[in-house]
Amino acid sequence: MSFLEYAPAPESTAILNLKDSYGLFIDGEFVDGSGTPFHTISPATEKHIAEIASASDEDVDRAVAAARRAYEKTWSKMSGRDRGKYLFRIARLVQERARELAVAESLDNGKPIKESRDVDVPLVASWFFYYAGWADKLDHAGLGANPRALGVAGQIIPWNFPLLMLAWKIAPALAAGNTVVLKPAETTPLTALIFAEILQQADLPAGVVNIVTGAGATGSTLVRHPDVDKVAFTGSTGVGRDIARAVAGTHKKLTLELGGKAANIVFDDAPIDQAIEGIVNGIFFNQGHVCCAGSRLLVQESIHDEVVDRLKTRLSTLRLGDPLDKNTDIGAINSAAQLARIRELSDIGEAEGAERWSADCAIPEQGFWFAPTIFTGVEASHRIARDEVFGPVLSVLTFRTPAEAIAKANNTPYGLSAGIWSDKGSRILAVADRLRAGVIWANTFNRFDPSSPFGGYKESGFGREGGRQGLTAYLKGAAA
Ligand code: NAD
Repeated sequence: MSFLEYAPAPESTAILNLKDSYGLFIDGEFVDGSGTPFHTISPATEKHIAEIASASDEDVDRAVAAARRAYEKTWSKMSGRDRGKYLFRIARLVQERARELAVAESLDNGKPIKESRDVDVPLVASWFFYYAGWADKLDHAGLGANPRALGVAGQIIPWNFPLLMLAWKIAPALAAGNTVVLKPAETTPLTALIFAEILQQADLPAGVVNIVTGAGATGSTLVRHPDVDKVAFTGSTGVGRDIARAVAGTHKKLTLELGGKAANIVFDDAPIDQAIEGIVNGIFFNQGHVCCAGSRLLVQESIHDEVVDRLKTRLSTLRLGDPLDKNTDIGAINSAAQLARIRELSDIGEAEGAERWSADCAIPEQGFWFAPTIFTGVEASHRIARDEVFGPVLSVLTFRTPAEAIAKANNTPYGLSAGIWSDKGSRILAVADRLRAGVIWANTFNRFDPSSPFGGYKESGFGREGGRQGLTAYLKGAAA
């Protein structure tokens, strides 16, 4: 080892108190599922972590019935002030068990511990604190007179931010007075099940939150259940389309948070050092498994070579490896299936004529890994410029004028996020005004705050999560 290398600094898993197998969380209890159980593994080692129950149609029915009973008997009758107390209690318990949750998240998902510890889990607590504050103020939120809850919410989340997506869904639903049946992704159910233990610790009334684990079929049953009043889905655009079709013509209210292909636009007057860090954070944070990732770098032609050279130098310093090591910057790809997709789209990128460069890092023998990769010479028609890779792969395109940057940024079926890097505030505002994206960051990227609404246009979905606007998705007749 050279003196420049970091000594290993693995976070211990001793804090975890995992069970060998987990049941479904229905009506305040862990119960057996009647589907065939599955295993959750660590994507960094491919080692088994725990056996997980799979919810059949009857199990989903039991969970929805429990949520309905809790809604009718308890939760809809409780004052906002008391609901808020439960949410505050949950937030404090998340803080108390923060290290345990961070270790479990990194183990199950593959993301670096420094991200789960410093980003995911603190944001989870802040989401519950934030919506706890709204629970007794719904009448004063400008959401219409006497806002009423919808009833039972069916919520489905993906694997890239398992606990954070759970918080984005559950906190506003409970604050607005709804009860919940939530289905986590099949590759990352662990922290949702630890969260169920936290709900027991918080003495949340039975049935207010139910967690049903399983694959896509379980989610499909949940969204089609006739006694669900609200469907909230975060995941791929393809599944989102299927859900929109299933819900069309029913009384169910729908929110869809889908994919993205964000443009990160760097003008020649940008603060370059900050922009390099922002580009890296934009696409390599969480291995690029980020719906709002800045996966298309649009760089002004005059600074293209300088930016690409500096990016390569910076990427060469990133450390890829054990997600539980505190020095790790790039963790494991979440699943073999996702790794295969990233490889396939990258091979297509090369075949279509773009130039591929990957950081030279040692790839562990076990597990699912992909080195940070940059494609230059990318054309707007290339698949790596159009399809969501959902991995650590950056496509670099150039522009000459602000008008060309705007046209290229908007040339995508998605519209979730964008970034603008420039020294001029007036330019940032003028360009932001013409970008068709739900969230636009200026001289930063991938920043999240519970008070800020988040959501997309076009094939990125509709509805907003976060902020006062996030409450409207869970209230009757409310308009933001
Ligand atoms: P996915 O759509 O395959 O799965 C998401 C969830 O839906 C999982 O829990 C899955 O089991 C469930 N599911 C699968 N088929 C279903 C069906 N027919 N009916 C109901 N539920 C079903 O997506 P994924 O691969 O897990 O996640 C990656 C995608 O999520 C990316 O496209 C990403 O952009 C998107 N995403 C979006 C946001 C956002 O806020 N817009 C946030 C995170 C991830």
